[in-house]
Amino acid sequence: DVTHGPILYLEDVSVSFDGFKAINDLNLTIDDGELRCIIGPNGAGKTTMMDIITGKTRPDSGSVWFGSRHDLLHMSEPEIATLGIGRKFQKPTVFEALSVFENLELAMATDKRIFPTLTARMTGETRDRIDEVLQTIHLGQWRERPAGILSHGQKQWLEIGMLLMQKPRLLLVDEPVAGMTEQEMERTAELLTSLAGRQSVVVVEHDMGFVRSIARKVTVLHQGAVLAEGSMDTVSTDPKVVEVYLGE
Ligand code: ADP
Repeated sequence: DVTHGPILYLEDVSVSFDGFKAINDLNLTIDDGELRCIIGPNGAGKTTMMDIITGKTRPDSGSVWFGSRHDLLHMSEPEIATLGIGRKFQKPTVFEALSVFENLELAMATDKRIFPTLTARMTGETRDRIDEVLQTIHLGQWRERPAGILSHGQKQWLEIGMLLMQKPRLLLVDEPVAGMTEQEMERTAELLTSLAGRQSVVVVEHDMGFVRSIARKVTVLHQGAVLAEGSMDTVSTDPKVVEVYLGE
């Protein structure tokens, strides 16, 4: 359950690749239950920031904390995932030959490389959780259908559902609406909005209309640091932000 205090802190985080500062004294705080959008031009450091949070990339300096107890810089990538930090990459990766239901069942296993739950007898708890998630992602009618026949948008929702099976505390979502139809985008906005409050959601997205439709708070990254932060109306009229986007 959410506490409404900060859940993630990045403090003075920097990382260089071959002498180039991809992240440059980045400071970011995400509150528990918050839905935050991260925007910024190409090369701003959005992906690198997500990689740092999940432990894929180690910063050269700074600190990254999850709640007040977990120093993420001293944890491995799997350990960080176990804390309840789930990441959804841009391209959906569902098991196409398995049903929607089985995809969700599989996601209960902490390690996707093994398939213990398919053969084991399913607990009532797992079944309840699957039903709950199916309702959240609006794929109830598709539960017995192979995931391979789903539309691109439905596959994205299924993958979000797979992450939800683990009851994450923080979801990191990379460009969820790329390639979606208008209608799918609307449903994705509803889905992400409904998730916030139950867990924190950080969305990296290029589509400004979509960002405007979901975000209460937007962080603009530029050259590896925060350029502006606030409501979409505030940041989109900020002269510094306008200048950066005009230069794209
Ligand atoms: P964004 O996701 O905002 O487009 P990235 O985080 O992908 O930005 O990249 C930030 C900068 O760091 C870019 O200039 C990119 O070329 C560079 N960069 C990212 N990852 C690496 C890497 N592994 N090696 C070298 N340069 C990298």
